[in-house]
Amino acid sequence: MTKHVIIGGGPVATNAIETIRQYGDGEASITLISDEPAHSRMALPYWLAGKVPREHTHTADDDYFGRLGVDAKIGQRASGIDTAARTVTLADGSTVEYDNLLIATGAAPAGLPVPGADLPGVQPLWTLEHTASLLAAAEGNESPRVTMIGAGFIGFIMLNAMHKRGWNLTVVEREDHVLPRMLDANAAGLVESWLAAKGVTVHAGAGVESIADGEGGKIVSLSGGATVDADVVIVATGIRPNTDLASEAGIETDQGIIVNSRCQTSAEGVYAGGDVAQGPVLGGGANEIHSIQPTAVDHGRIAGANMAGHDAEYPGSLSLNILDVCGLQNASFGNWGDTSEDAVTISNAADHIYRKFIFTGDQMTGAVFVGEANDLGMLTDVGMVKGIMQTETDLGAWKGFLKENPFDVRRAYIATGVAATLAKTTLLGQKAQPRGFHFGGQAPQSAVDGSHAQLVSPKAAAMEKAAEVARAMAAEAEAAGNDGAAEAESAE
Ligand SMILES: Cc1cc2nc3c(=O)[nH]c(=O)nc-3n(C[C@H](O)[C@H](O)[C@H](O)COP(=O)(O)OP(=O)(O)OC[C@H]3O[C@@H](n4cnc5c(N)ncnc54)[C@H](O)[C@@H]3O)c2cc1C
Repeated sequence: MTKHVIIGGGPVATNAIETIRQYGDGEASITLISDEPAHSRMALPYWLAGKVPREHTHTADDDYFGRLGVDAKIGQRASGIDTAARTVTLADGSTVEYDNLLIATGAAPAGLPVPGADLPGVQPLWTLEHTASLLAAAEGNESPRVTMIGAGFIGFIMLNAMHKRGWNLTVVEREDHVLPRMLDANAAGLVESWLAAKGVTVHAGAGVESIADGEGGKIVSLSGGATVDADVVIVATGIRPNTDLASEAGIETDQGIIVNSRCQTSAEGVYAGGDVAQGPVLGGGANEIHSIQPTAVDHGRIAGANMAGHDAEYPGSLSLNILDVCGLQNASFGNWGDTSEDAVTISNAADHIYRKFIFTGDQMTGAVFVGEANDLGMLTDVGMVKGIMQTETDLGAWKGFLKENPFDVRRAYIATGVAATLAKTTLLGQKAQPRGFHFGGQAPQSAVDGSHAQLVSPKAAAMEKAAEVARAMAAEAEAAGNDGAAEAESAE
Protein backbone atom coordinates (compact mmCIF):
# COMPACT_ATOMS: atom_id res chain seq x y z
CA MET A 1 0.00 0.00 0.00
CA THR A 2 1.47 3.36 -1.07
CA LYS A 3 1.85 5.92 1.73
CA HIS A 4 1.24 9.56 0.76
CA VAL A 5 2.10 12.30 3.27
CA ILE A 6 1.22 15.98 2.77
CA ILE A 7 2.50 18.86 4.92
CA GLY A 8 0.22 21.95 4.89
CA GLY A 9 -3.55 22.45 4.70
CA GLY A 10 -3.98 25.08 1.98
CA PRO A 11 -5.24 24.71 -1.61
CA VAL A 12 -2.19 22.71 -2.73
CA ALA A 13 -2.97 20.09 -0.09
CA THR A 14 -6.72 19.77 -0.68
CA ASN A 15 -6.31 19.66 -4.47
CA ALA A 16 -3.60 17.01 -4.16
CA ILE A 17 -5.79 14.88 -1.85
CA GLU A 18 -8.74 15.03 -4.25
CA THR A 19 -6.55 14.26 -7.28
CA ILE A 20 -4.87 11.30 -5.56
CA ARG A 21 -8.32 9.87 -4.82
CA GLN A 22 -9.53 10.66 -8.37
CA TYR A 23 -6.51 9.01 -10.05
CA GLY A 24 -5.23 6.55 -7.44
CA ASP A 25 -6.12 2.95 -6.80
CA GLY A 26 -8.11 3.75 -3.66
CA GLU A 27 -5.84 1.60 -1.49
CA ALA A 28 -3.20 4.23 -0.78
CA SER A 29 -3.05 5.90 2.64
CA ILE A 30 -3.01 9.71 2.89
CA THR A 31 -1.74 11.53 5.98
CA LEU A 32 -2.17 15.31 6.22
CA ILE A 33 -0.09 17.33 8.70
CA SER A 34 -1.26 20.93 9.09
CA ASP A 35 -0.76 23.38 11.93
CA GLU A 36 -3.84 25.40 10.84
CA PRO A 37 -7.30 24.05 9.92
CA ALA A 38 -7.58 23.34 6.19
CA HIS A 39 -8.76 26.66 4.78
CA SER A 40 -8.46 29.16 1.95
CA ARG A 41 -6.54 32.34 2.67
CA MET A 42 -8.35 33.87 -0.31
CA ALA A 43 -11.56 33.76 1.73
CA LEU A 44 -10.11 35.77 4.65
CA PRO A 45 -11.07 39.18 3.17
CA TYR A 46 -14.74 38.11 3.06
CA TRP A 47 -14.59 37.32 6.78
CA LEU A 48 -12.68 40.56 7.50
CA ALA A 49 -15.32 42.55 5.58
CA GLY A 50 -18.05 40.89 7.66
CA LYS A 51 -19.60 39.11 4.66
CA VAL A 52 -19.14 35.52 5.95
CA PRO A 53 -18.41 33.90 9.33
CA ARG A 54 -14.93 32.54 10.08
CA GLU A 55 -15.97 28.92 9.38
CA HIS A 56 -16.78 29.79 5.76
CA THR A 57 -13.05 30.07 5.11
CA HIS A 58 -12.61 26.36 5.89
CA THR A 59 -12.15 23.98 2.98
CA ALA A 60 -12.46 20.62 4.77
CA ASP A 61 -13.91 19.05 7.92
CA ASP A 62 -13.89 15.64 9.68
CA ASP A 63 -16.63 14.32 7.40
CA TYR A 64 -14.66 15.31 4.28
CA PHE A 65 -11.45 13.75 5.58
CA GLY A 66 -13.37 10.61 6.56
CA ARG A 67 -14.94 10.31 3.11
CA LEU A 68 -11.58 10.68 1.37
CA GLY A 69 -9.82 8.37 3.82
CA VAL A 70 -7.38 10.99 5.11
CA ASP A 71 -5.60 10.67 8.46
CA ALA A 72 -5.74 14.41 9.23
CA LYS A 73 -3.30 15.60 11.88
CA ILE A 74 -4.70 19.12 12.23
CA GLY A 75 -3.03 21.47 14.69
CA GLN A 76 0.26 19.59 14.40
CA ARG A 77 3.55 20.84 12.94
CA ALA A 78 6.09 18.91 10.91
CA SER A 79 9.57 19.63 12.30
CA GLY A 80 11.87 17.54 10.12
CA ILE A 81 12.18 15.40 6.99
CA ASP A 82 14.59 12.47 6.60
CA THR A 83 14.80 11.78 2.87
CA ALA A 84 16.98 8.65 3.34
CA ALA A 85 14.65 6.99 5.87
CA ARG A 86 11.59 8.52 4.12
CA THR A 87 10.05 9.84 7.33
CA VAL A 88 8.56 13.11 8.56
CA THR A 89 9.04 14.04 12.22
CA LEU A 90 6.29 15.98 13.99
CA ALA A 91 6.80 18.60 16.70
CA ASP A 92 5.57 16.07 19.32
CA GLY A 93 8.46 13.74 18.37
CA SER A 94 6.36 11.15 16.52
CA THR A 95 7.28 10.09 12.97
CA VAL A 96 5.25 9.27 9.85
CA GLU A 97 6.64 7.15 7.00
CA TYR A 98 6.12 8.12 3.37
CA ASP A 99 6.57 6.73 -0.12
CA ASN A 100 5.53 10.10 -1.57
CA LEU A 101 5.77 13.36 0.32
CA LEU A 102 4.24 16.70 -0.74
CA ILE A 103 5.63 19.85 0.88
CA ALA A 104 2.83 22.43 0.69
CA THR A 105 3.88 24.69 3.55
CA GLY A 106 3.10 28.02 1.84
CA ALA A 107 4.75 31.23 2.93
CA ALA A 108 4.94 33.48 5.99
CA PRO A 109 4.97 37.29 6.41
CA ALA A 110 8.43 38.77 5.88
CA GLY A 111 8.27 41.21 8.84
CA LEU A 112 9.71 44.68 9.34
CA PRO A 113 13.11 45.20 11.00
CA VAL A 114 12.42 48.55 12.74
CA PRO A 115 12.08 49.51 16.42
CA GLY A 116 8.55 48.99 17.69
CA ALA A 117 7.54 46.38 15.08
CA ASP A 118 6.93 43.89 17.90
CA LEU A 119 4.60 46.14 19.95
CA PRO A 120 1.06 44.96 20.67
CA GLY A 121 -1.24 46.47 18.03
CA VAL A 122 1.36 45.96 15.28
CA GLN A 123 0.66 42.80 13.31
CA PRO A 124 0.81 41.04 9.94
CA LEU A 125 -2.41 40.05 8.13
CA TRP A 126 -1.88 36.66 6.52
CA THR A 127 -3.51 33.92 8.60
CA LEU A 128 -6.79 33.05 10.32
CA GLU A 129 -5.33 34.17 13.66
CA HIS A 130 -4.06 37.49 12.24
CA THR A 131 -7.57 38.22 10.91
CA ALA A 132 -9.12 37.30 14.26
CA SER A 133 -6.69 39.55 16.09
CA LEU A 134 -7.42 42.55 13.82
CA LEU A 135 -11.18 42.07 14.22
CA ALA A 136 -10.71 41.88 18.01
CA ALA A 137 -8.59 45.06 18.00
CA ALA A 138 -11.29 46.90 16.02
CA GLU A 139 -14.17 45.69 18.19
CA GLY A 140 -16.26 48.55 19.56
CA ASN A 141 -14.55 51.12 17.33
CA GLU A 142 -16.75 52.20 14.37
CA SER A 143 -13.86 53.54 12.36
CA PRO A 144 -10.46 52.49 13.70
CA ARG A 145 -7.39 54.22 12.23
CA VAL A 146 -5.42 51.50 10.44
CA THR A 147 -2.02 52.15 8.89
CA MET A 148 -0.83 49.52 6.45
CA ILE A 149 2.91 49.35 5.83
CA GLY A 150 3.52 47.93 2.35
CA ALA A 151 1.24 48.47 -0.65
CA GLY A 152 1.34 45.08 -2.37
CA PHE A 153 -1.29 42.79 -3.92
CA ILE A 154 -2.36 40.89 -0.77
CA GLY A 155 -2.20 44.01 1.39
CA PHE A 156 -4.65 45.77 -0.93
CA ILE A 157 -7.01 42.77 -0.97
CA MET A 158 -7.27 43.14 2.81
CA LEU A 159 -7.37 46.97 2.58
CA ASN A 160 -10.39 46.65 0.30
CA ALA A 161 -12.16 44.59 2.99
CA MET A 162 -11.36 47.25 5.63
CA HIS A 163 -12.60 49.99 3.27
CA LYS A 164 -15.92 48.12 3.00
CA ARG A 165 -16.16 48.38 6.79
CA GLY A 166 -15.65 52.14 6.58
CA TRP A 167 -12.36 52.16 8.50
CA ASN A 168 -9.96 55.11 8.45
CA LEU A 169 -7.06 53.96 6.26
CA THR A 170 -3.48 55.05 5.56
CA VAL A 171 -0.98 53.23 3.33
CA VAL A 172 2.81 53.61 3.53
CA GLU A 173 4.97 52.30 0.66
CA ARG A 174 8.79 52.43 0.54
CA GLU A 175 8.93 52.29 -3.27
CA ASP A 176 7.97 55.28 -5.42
CA HIS A 177 4.43 54.06 -6.07
CA VAL A 178 1.81 51.61 -4.78
CA LEU A 179 1.61 48.05 -6.14
CA PRO A 180 5.23 48.12 -7.38
CA ARG A 181 5.23 44.39 -8.22
CA MET A 182 1.94 44.56 -10.09
CA LEU A 183 1.62 47.90 -11.89
CA ASP A 184 3.92 50.31 -13.72
CA ALA A 185 4.25 53.86 -12.40
CA ASN A 186 1.59 55.30 -14.75
CA ALA A 187 -1.07 52.76 -13.81
CA ALA A 188 -0.18 53.05 -10.12
CA GLY A 189 -0.59 56.84 -10.34
CA LEU A 190 -4.25 56.30 -11.28
CA VAL A 191 -4.70 53.99 -8.29
CA GLU A 192 -3.18 56.62 -5.98
CA SER A 193 -5.48 59.40 -7.20
CA TRP A 194 -8.46 57.03 -6.89
CA LEU A 195 -7.48 56.20 -3.30
CA ALA A 196 -7.17 59.90 -2.47
CA ALA A 197 -10.71 60.44 -3.79
CA LYS A 198 -11.92 57.56 -1.58
CA GLY A 199 -10.36 59.11 1.53
CA VAL A 200 -7.41 56.69 1.79
CA THR A 201 -4.13 58.49 2.55
CA VAL A 202 -1.06 57.23 0.67
CA HIS A 203 2.58 57.93 1.58
CA ALA A 204 4.65 56.54 -1.32
CA GLY A 205 8.45 56.71 -1.41
CA ALA A 206 8.47 56.72 2.41
CA GLY A 207 10.27 54.13 4.54
CA VAL A 208 9.18 53.42 8.12
CA GLU A 209 11.87 54.36 10.67
CA SER A 210 10.10 53.31 13.86
CA ILE A 211 6.77 52.57 15.53
CA ALA A 212 6.13 53.78 19.06
CA ASP A 213 3.30 53.96 21.58
CA GLY A 214 1.80 57.45 21.88
CA GLU A 215 -1.01 58.98 23.92
CA GLY A 216 -3.77 58.06 21.50
CA GLY A 217 -2.35 54.86 19.92
CA LYS A 218 0.67 54.08 17.75
CA ILE A 219 2.92 56.66 16.12
CA VAL A 220 4.53 55.54 12.87
CA SER A 221 7.58 57.68 11.96
CA LEU A 222 8.44 57.91 8.27
CA SER A 223 11.79 58.56 6.58
CA GLY A 224 10.81 62.02 5.31
CA GLY A 225 10.05 63.15 8.88
CA ALA A 226 6.25 62.78 8.75
CA THR A 227 4.39 60.78 11.40
CA VAL A 228 1.11 58.86 11.18
CA ASP A 229 -1.16 58.11 14.14
CA ALA A 230 -2.91 54.75 14.17
CA ASP A 231 -4.95 52.42 16.37
CA VAL A 232 -3.60 49.36 14.54
CA VAL A 233 -0.53 48.99 12.32
CA ILE A 234 -0.57 46.24 9.68
CA VAL A 235 2.82 45.05 8.44
CA ALA A 236 2.26 43.90 4.85
CA THR A 237 5.84 44.01 3.61
CA GLY A 238 5.75 40.79 1.59
CA ILE A 239 6.16 37.09 2.27
CA ARG A 240 8.92 34.53 2.58
CA PRO A 241 8.35 30.92 1.40
CA ASN A 242 8.47 28.32 4.21
CA THR A 243 11.46 26.41 2.75
CA ASP A 244 13.23 25.55 6.03
CA LEU A 245 11.99 21.94 6.26
CA ALA A 246 13.22 21.30 2.71
CA SER A 247 16.57 23.06 2.95
CA GLU A 248 17.38 21.39 6.30
CA ALA A 249 16.65 18.03 4.63
CA GLY A 250 19.14 18.81 1.82
CA ILE A 251 16.44 19.37 -0.82
CA GLU A 252 17.43 21.95 -3.45
CA THR A 253 16.07 25.43 -2.75
CA ASP A 254 16.61 28.90 -4.17
CA GLN A 255 14.01 31.56 -3.27
CA GLY A 256 11.60 28.61 -2.99
CA ILE A 257 11.85 24.83 -3.31
CA ILE A 258 12.96 24.05 -6.87
CA VAL A 259 10.44 21.81 -8.68
CA ASN A 260 10.23 20.46 -12.22
CA SER A 261 7.16 20.28 -14.45
CA ARG A 262 5.87 17.28 -12.43
CA CYS A 263 6.28 19.24 -9.16
CA GLN A 264 9.12 16.89 -8.17
CA THR A 265 11.92 18.25 -5.99
CA SER A 266 15.56 17.13 -6.06
CA ALA A 267 14.75 14.33 -3.53
CA GLU A 268 13.30 11.00 -4.67
CA GLY A 269 9.55 10.78 -3.92
CA VAL A 270 9.35 14.37 -2.60
CA TYR A 271 7.07 16.91 -4.31
CA ALA A 272 6.37 20.59 -3.57
CA GLY A 273 3.82 23.12 -4.80
CA GLY A 274 2.16 26.50 -4.28
CA ASP A 275 3.66 29.48 -2.47
CA VAL A 276 6.68 27.46 -1.30
CA ALA A 277 7.62 26.19 -4.77
CA GLN A 278 9.74 27.80 -7.48
CA GLY A 279 8.48 26.12 -10.62
CA PRO A 280 8.32 26.31 -14.41
CA VAL A 281 6.75 29.37 -16.01
CA LEU A 282 4.40 29.35 -19.01
CA GLY A 283 6.40 30.26 -22.10
CA GLY A 284 9.72 29.07 -20.62
CA GLY A 285 12.56 30.84 -18.83
CA ALA A 286 13.87 30.51 -15.29
CA ASN A 287 11.69 28.97 -12.57
CA GLU A 288 9.67 31.49 -10.56
CA ILE A 289 7.46 31.59 -7.47
CA HIS A 290 3.90 32.66 -8.30
CA SER A 291 2.20 33.12 -4.92
CA ILE A 292 -1.36 32.98 -6.22
CA GLN A 293 -4.29 30.62 -5.86
CA PRO A 294 -4.39 29.39 -9.50
CA THR A 295 -0.77 28.21 -9.29
CA ALA A 296 -1.43 26.53 -5.93
CA VAL A 297 -4.45 24.68 -7.36
CA ASP A 298 -2.55 23.60 -10.50
CA HIS A 299 0.50 22.47 -8.51
CA GLY A 300 -1.72 20.49 -6.13
CA ARG A 301 -3.40 18.68 -9.00
CA ILE A 302 -0.15 18.00 -10.91
CA ALA A 303 1.65 16.76 -7.78
CA GLY A 304 -1.38 14.64 -6.77
CA ALA A 305 -1.64 12.99 -10.21
CA ASN A 306 2.08 12.14 -10.26
CA MET A 307 1.96 10.85 -6.67
CA ALA A 308 -0.92 8.59 -7.75
CA GLY A 309 1.29 7.10 -10.48
CA HIS A 310 0.22 9.18 -13.49
CA ASP A 311 2.69 11.03 -15.66
CA ALA A 312 1.25 14.57 -15.60
CA GLU A 313 3.30 17.53 -16.80
CA TYR A 314 2.56 21.19 -16.10
CA PRO A 315 2.98 23.67 -18.96
CA GLY A 316 4.01 26.27 -16.35
CA SER A 317 2.29 28.99 -14.37
CA LEU A 318 1.33 32.46 -15.59
CA SER A 319 1.83 35.50 -13.39
CA LEU A 320 -1.75 36.72 -12.81
CA ASN A 321 -2.83 39.64 -10.64
CA ILE A 322 -6.45 40.78 -10.62
CA LEU A 323 -7.30 43.23 -7.87
CA ASP A 324 -10.16 45.52 -6.86
CA VAL A 325 -8.84 48.60 -5.01
CA CYS A 326 -11.90 50.24 -3.42
CA GLY A 327 -13.88 50.00 -6.68
CA LEU A 328 -11.01 50.48 -9.13
CA GLN A 329 -10.21 47.26 -10.97
CA ASN A 330 -6.57 46.49 -11.76
CA ALA A 331 -5.01 43.56 -13.55
CA SER A 332 -1.56 42.61 -14.79
CA PHE A 333 -0.45 39.45 -16.53
CA GLY A 334 2.79 37.83 -17.67
CA ASN A 335 5.73 40.14 -18.36
CA TRP A 336 3.68 43.26 -17.60
CA GLY A 337 6.82 45.22 -16.60
CA ASP A 338 8.63 44.56 -19.90
CA THR A 339 9.74 47.91 -21.36
CA SER A 340 9.74 46.57 -24.95
CA GLU A 341 8.71 49.04 -27.65
CA ASP A 342 6.51 46.33 -29.18
CA ALA A 343 3.55 47.51 -27.12
CA VAL A 344 0.48 49.71 -27.13
CA THR A 345 -0.49 51.98 -24.20
CA ILE A 346 -3.68 53.96 -23.65
CA SER A 347 -3.95 56.27 -20.65
CA ASN A 348 -6.87 58.46 -19.58
CA ALA A 349 -6.07 59.80 -16.14
CA ALA A 350 -9.31 61.77 -15.75
CA ASP A 351 -11.43 58.63 -16.12
CA HIS A 352 -8.95 56.29 -14.41
CA ILE A 353 -8.52 54.17 -17.53
CA TYR A 354 -5.20 52.56 -18.45
CA ARG A 355 -4.44 49.73 -20.81
CA LYS A 356 -1.11 48.33 -21.98
CA PHE A 357 -0.49 45.29 -24.18
CA ILE A 358 3.07 44.01 -24.71
CA PHE A 359 4.00 41.66 -27.54
CA THR A 360 6.88 39.31 -28.27
CA GLY A 361 6.88 38.12 -31.87
CA ASP A 362 3.30 37.11 -32.70
CA GLN A 363 2.17 36.64 -29.12
CA MET A 364 0.90 38.89 -26.34
CA THR A 365 3.29 38.37 -23.43
CA GLY A 366 2.27 41.07 -20.96
CA ALA A 367 -0.77 43.21 -20.15
CA VAL A 368 -1.89 45.87 -17.67
CA PHE A 369 -5.47 47.08 -17.09
CA VAL A 370 -6.95 49.80 -14.86
CA GLY A 371 -10.60 50.82 -14.97
CA GLU A 372 -13.70 51.15 -12.83
CA ALA A 373 -14.81 47.84 -11.34
CA ASN A 374 -18.34 48.32 -12.72
CA ASP A 375 -17.05 48.60 -16.32
CA LEU A 376 -18.27 45.24 -17.61
CA GLY A 377 -16.62 45.76 -21.00
CA MET A 378 -13.22 46.03 -19.34
CA LEU A 379 -13.85 43.01 -17.12
CA THR A 380 -14.62 40.80 -20.12
CA ASP A 381 -11.54 42.18 -21.92
CA VAL A 382 -9.44 41.23 -18.88
CA GLY A 383 -10.76 37.66 -19.13
CA MET A 384 -10.18 37.49 -22.88
CA VAL A 385 -6.62 38.84 -22.66
CA LYS A 386 -5.89 36.28 -19.92
CA GLY A 387 -7.16 33.58 -22.33
CA ILE A 388 -5.05 34.91 -25.22
CA MET A 389 -1.95 34.73 -23.02
CA GLN A 390 -2.73 31.39 -21.35
CA THR A 391 -3.19 29.71 -24.73
CA GLU A 392 0.01 31.36 -26.08
CA THR A 393 -2.00 32.16 -29.21
CA ASP A 394 -0.15 33.31 -32.33
CA LEU A 395 -2.07 36.46 -33.20
CA GLY A 396 -0.82 36.94 -36.77
CA ALA A 397 -2.46 39.99 -38.33
CA TRP A 398 -4.59 40.43 -35.19
CA LYS A 399 -1.53 41.71 -33.34
CA GLY A 400 -1.55 44.81 -35.54
CA PHE A 401 -5.32 45.08 -35.08
CA LEU A 402 -4.97 45.04 -31.27
CA LYS A 403 -2.24 47.67 -31.42
CA GLU A 404 -4.58 49.88 -33.46
CA ASN A 405 -7.73 48.97 -31.49
CA PRO A 406 -6.80 48.01 -27.91
CA PHE A 407 -10.44 48.41 -26.85
CA ASP A 408 -11.67 45.84 -29.38
CA VAL A 409 -10.21 42.66 -27.87
CA ARG A 410 -13.30 40.57 -28.61
CA ARG A 411 -12.77 40.52 -32.39
CA ALA A 412 -9.19 39.23 -32.06
CA TYR A 413 -10.22 36.76 -29.35
CA ILE A 414 -12.93 35.20 -31.53
CA ALA A 415 -11.02 35.29 -34.82
CA THR A 416 -7.96 33.53 -33.38
CA GLY A 417 -10.07 30.74 -31.85
CA VAL A 418 -8.94 31.29 -28.26
CA ALA A 419 -12.27 30.24 -26.74
CA ALA A 420 -12.22 26.94 -28.62
CA THR A 421 -8.62 26.28 -27.53
CA LEU A 422 -9.48 27.06 -23.90
CA ALA A 423 -12.54 24.81 -23.98
CA LYS A 424 -10.35 21.88 -25.07
CA THR A 425 -7.64 22.57 -22.48
CA THR A 426 -7.64 20.55 -19.27
CA LEU A 427 -4.73 20.29 -16.88
CA LEU A 428 -4.88 16.52 -16.44
CA GLY A 429 -6.64 15.39 -19.61
CA GLN A 430 -10.05 15.17 -17.96
CA LYS A 431 -12.41 17.51 -16.16
CA ALA A 432 -11.82 18.27 -12.48
CA GLN A 433 -14.46 16.74 -10.24
CA PRO A 434 -16.63 18.96 -8.02
CA ARG A 435 -14.98 19.35 -4.61
CA GLY A 436 -17.77 17.72 -2.69
CA PHE A 437 -17.25 20.03 0.30
CA HIS A 438 -19.51 22.85 1.38
CA PHE A 439 -19.44 24.69 4.66
CA GLY A 440 -21.81 22.99 7.13
CA GLY A 441 -22.92 20.63 4.34
CA GLN A 442 -24.95 23.48 2.81
CA ALA A 443 -25.85 23.32 -0.87
CA PRO A 444 -24.32 26.10 -2.99
CA GLN A 445 -26.53 29.19 -3.15
CA SER A 446 -26.20 29.54 -6.91
CA ALA A 447 -25.40 27.32 -9.85
CA VAL A 448 -23.52 28.23 -13.01
CA ASP A 449 -26.46 28.29 -15.39
CA GLY A 450 -28.63 30.86 -17.14
CA SER A 451 -29.50 32.53 -13.86
CA HIS A 452 -25.79 32.79 -12.99
CA ALA A 453 -25.31 35.07 -15.98
CA GLN A 454 -28.14 37.23 -14.66
CA LEU A 455 -26.61 37.30 -11.20
CA VAL A 456 -23.20 38.44 -12.37
CA SER A 457 -24.29 40.79 -15.08
CA PRO A 458 -27.46 42.80 -15.54
CA LYS A 459 -26.13 43.46 -19.06
CA ALA A 460 -25.96 39.70 -19.71
CA ALA A 461 -29.55 39.39 -18.51
CA ALA A 462 -30.59 42.17 -20.89
CA MET A 463 -28.75 40.43 -23.72
CA GLU A 464 -30.45 37.13 -22.91
CA LYS A 465 -33.82 38.92 -22.92
CA ALA A 466 -32.98 40.46 -26.32
CA ALA A 467 -31.98 37.01 -27.61
CA GLU A 468 -35.30 35.59 -26.35
CA VAL A 469 -37.23 38.31 -28.21
CA ALA A 470 -35.16 37.64 -31.34
CA ARG A 471 -35.89 33.89 -31.08
CA ALA A 472 -39.62 34.55 -30.68
CA MET A 473 -39.61 36.89 -33.70
CA ALA A 474 -37.70 34.32 -35.77
CA ALA A 475 -40.18 31.61 -34.76
CA GLU A 476 -43.09 33.89 -35.69
CA ALA A 477 -41.51 34.71 -39.04
CA GLU A 478 -40.90 31.01 -39.71
CA ALA A 479 -44.49 30.15 -38.82
CA ALA A 480 -45.75 32.93 -41.11
CA GLY A 481 -43.46 31.65 -43.89
CA ASN A 482 -44.76 28.09 -43.47
CA ASP A 483 -48.36 29.31 -43.51
CA GLY A 484 -47.57 31.23 -46.66
CA ALA A 485 -46.09 28.08 -48.19
CA ALA A 486 -49.12 26.03 -47.08
CA GLU A 487 -51.45 28.62 -48.63
CA ALA A 488 -49.45 28.51 -51.85
CA GLU A 489 -49.62 24.69 -51.87
CA SER A 490 -53.41 24.63 -51.36
CA ALA A 491 -53.86 27.24 -54.11
CA GLU A 492 -52.08 24.92 -56.56
C1 LIG B 1 -5.51 37.47 2.72
C2 LIG B 1 -5.12 36.76 1.47
C3 LIG B 1 -5.88 36.93 0.32
C4 LIG B 1 -5.51 36.30 -0.86
N1 LIG B 1 -6.25 36.49 -1.98
C5 LIG B 1 -5.87 35.94 -3.14
C6 LIG B 1 -6.60 36.18 -4.33
O1 LIG B 1 -7.60 36.91 -4.34
N2 LIG B 1 -6.19 35.59 -5.48
C7 LIG B 1 -5.10 34.77 -5.51
O2 LIG B 1 -4.77 34.24 -6.57
N3 LIG B 1 -4.37 34.51 -4.38
C8 LIG B 1 -4.73 35.09 -3.21
N4 LIG B 1 -4.00 34.86 -2.08
C9 LIG B 1 -2.82 33.98 -2.17
C10 LIG B 1 -3.25 32.51 -2.00
O3 LIG B 1 -4.08 32.40 -0.88
C11 LIG B 1 -2.01 31.64 -1.85
O4 LIG B 1 -1.28 31.71 -3.06
C12 LIG B 1 -2.38 30.19 -1.53
O5 LIG B 1 -3.01 30.10 -0.28
C13 LIG B 1 -1.13 29.30 -1.50
O6 LIG B 1 -1.54 28.01 -1.18
P1 LIG B 1 -0.54 26.98 -0.46
O7 LIG B 1 -1.30 25.71 -0.30
O8 LIG B 1 0.76 26.97 -1.18
O9 LIG B 1 -0.20 27.63 0.96
P2 LIG B 1 -1.13 28.10 2.16
O10 LIG B 1 -2.51 28.36 1.72
O11 LIG B 1 -0.39 29.18 2.83
O12 LIG B 1 -1.17 26.82 3.11
C14 LIG B 1 0.00 26.33 3.75
C15 LIG B 1 -0.39 25.75 5.10
O13 LIG B 1 0.70 24.98 5.60
C16 LIG B 1 0.83 25.23 6.99
N5 LIG B 1 2.20 24.89 7.42
C17 LIG B 1 3.33 25.58 7.14
N6 LIG B 1 4.40 24.96 7.69
C18 LIG B 1 3.92 23.87 8.32
C19 LIG B 1 4.55 22.83 9.08
N7 LIG B 1 5.86 22.79 9.29
N8 LIG B 1 3.76 21.86 9.60
C20 LIG B 1 2.41 21.87 9.40
N9 LIG B 1 1.78 22.84 8.69
C21 LIG B 1 2.52 23.82 8.17
C22 LIG B 1 0.52 26.73 7.07
O14 LIG B 1 0.21 27.13 8.40
C23 LIG B 1 -0.68 26.82 6.14
O15 LIG B 1 -1.87 26.53 6.80
C24 LIG B 1 -4.36 35.46 -0.88
C25 LIG B 1 -3.59 35.28 0.30
C26 LIG B 1 -3.98 35.94 1.45
C27 LIG B 1 -3.15 35.77 2.70
